[in-house]
Amino acid sequence: MTSNVTLIFDKSSGNAQKNFTPKMDIEEVELQDIIPKSFQRIDLPLPDIHEVEIVRHYIDLSKKNYGVDDGFYPLGSCTMKYNPKINEIVARIPKFSQIHPLQDENQGCLELMFKFSKALEEITGMDGFTFQPAAGAHGELTGLLIIKKYFEDKNMKKDKIIIPDSAHGTNPASAKMAGFSIVELQSNTDGEVPLDHLKFAMQEGDVAGIMLTNPNTLGVFDRQIKDITRIVHENGGLCYYDGANLNPMLGICRPGDMGFDIVHLNLHKTFSTPHGGGGPGSGPIGVIEKLIPYLPKPYIISPEKVVNYRENNDNSIGRIKAFWGNFGVIIRAYAYILALGAEGLKRVGQMAVLNANYLRILLKKKYNLPYDRICQHEFVLSDKNLPNDITTEDIAKRILDYGLYAPTIYFPLIINGAIMIEPTETESKTSLDYFIEVMEKVFEEAQNNPDLLKNAPNNTPVKRLDAVLAARKPKLRD
Ligand SMILES: *Cc1c(COP(=O)(O)O)cnc(C)c1O
Repeated sequence: MTSNVTLIFDKSSGNAQKNFTPKMDIEEVELQDIIPKSFQRIDLPLPDIHEVEIVRHYIDLSKKNYGVDDGFYPLGSCTMKYNPKINEIVARIPKFSQIHPLQDENQGCLELMFKFSKALEEITGMDGFTFQPAAGAHGELTGLLIIKKYFEDKNMKKDKIIIPDSAHGTNPASAKMAGFSIVELQSNTDGEVPLDHLKFAMQEGDVAGIMLTNPNTLGVFDRQIKDITRIVHENGGLCYYDGANLNPMLGICRPGDMGFDIVHLNLHKTFSTPHGGGGPGSGPIGVIEKLIPYLPKPYIISPEKVVNYRENNDNSIGRIKAFWGNFGVIIRAYAYILALGAEGLKRVGQMAVLNANYLRILLKKKYNLPYDRICQHEFVLSDKNLPNDITTEDIAKRILDYGLYAPTIYFPLIINGAIMIEPTETESKTSLDYFIEVMEKVFEEAQNNPDLLKNAPNNTPVKRLDAVLAARKPKLRD
């Protein structure tokens, strides 16, 4: 690997100038008095570096990083949009950030969550929310546990769940974790759920319902959505809506009106909070009235009163995370919703769709677009027709040389060599035009100078990695 990224361990000088604090004047404790000898490491090769050097090292590393605040980040299914910095400031207000959940005086925080819940209910058409799930997939698990408990309480054996092949990868994983087995439905040529197959699958008595990603991973809205929920309900099932990517729907349509019973949202995608930075997320789920008793406890019924279902109601699936979930993320999302208002949220939806379709129409001139229809927040190109054995990976790597981030690649699996592009609503026409220009240029390079792509990236801090070697012989520690 060619790289100019240095590990801090390589910087150890062995005789670093120590800082200027005076010598310690308290008694040193023998290590074995605190940690049993068997647990002690004999050799602890920490780098010996001056504090200033450490700071410079990490600042240097941070400059080599790339994020939404550096440039265009069209990572499909991730909604890498610009998040207003005011929301960060609001989340850091000490009266929010310094409070302990067991403190008596946390009425303000409860009120905020209560009001936020009401806002999400209005946005989604659901009747109640929990904020405990810490991520989208965690929300899925919570929702599925609710479905499971609901049927268990009715003494009905329903341990299968229908999931179309256009679902996000976490859907089948969460269903499996919740103890369901999966009935996979193959999408039709429009990328939608085939109703006759759905009907057939639902007639099996042990199917608990459907888990639908909408818009699905092809960026496509299922036009028969009301028929889907009707068929599932007619056969005694429940409908779960994966609303991780609610961006294009905001203010336009609501999962509740489509007939869904449970919805999860990703606050760290649609509702401000940087996504992809490895920080805390939040995947609240909303449910219709009859499922509220199944929500994790405690559940806020009014800002003055917190109902704990362990005492009052046996239906709750119990706790799925400590206290209230990732409260900081909730604050950001609430500030975001208040700042935009109903009109602003609707504009988010409209612009996300407009931007994606602008790119879709201009990029399909050169690149293959397997599902050629109006998309929502994203669309997926394929590697068909790429010249000179150029692969999707080569395209993605070459884009980096132009100071852009790459789209999501090789996902969804139902498209060969997928290139999944999500521009988000926060990009200007100028940045979208630059992306198109780069994509066209890269296509021409693929025709005329394929080696340029095969060796890319050429001017990033880390060059092309040997992915096969990395997988076969992972170097997990220095
Ligand atoms: C991102 C995403 C998820 C999973 O969310 P995490 O927070 O990463 O667990 C689920 N479904 C869809 C459609 C997504 O885009």
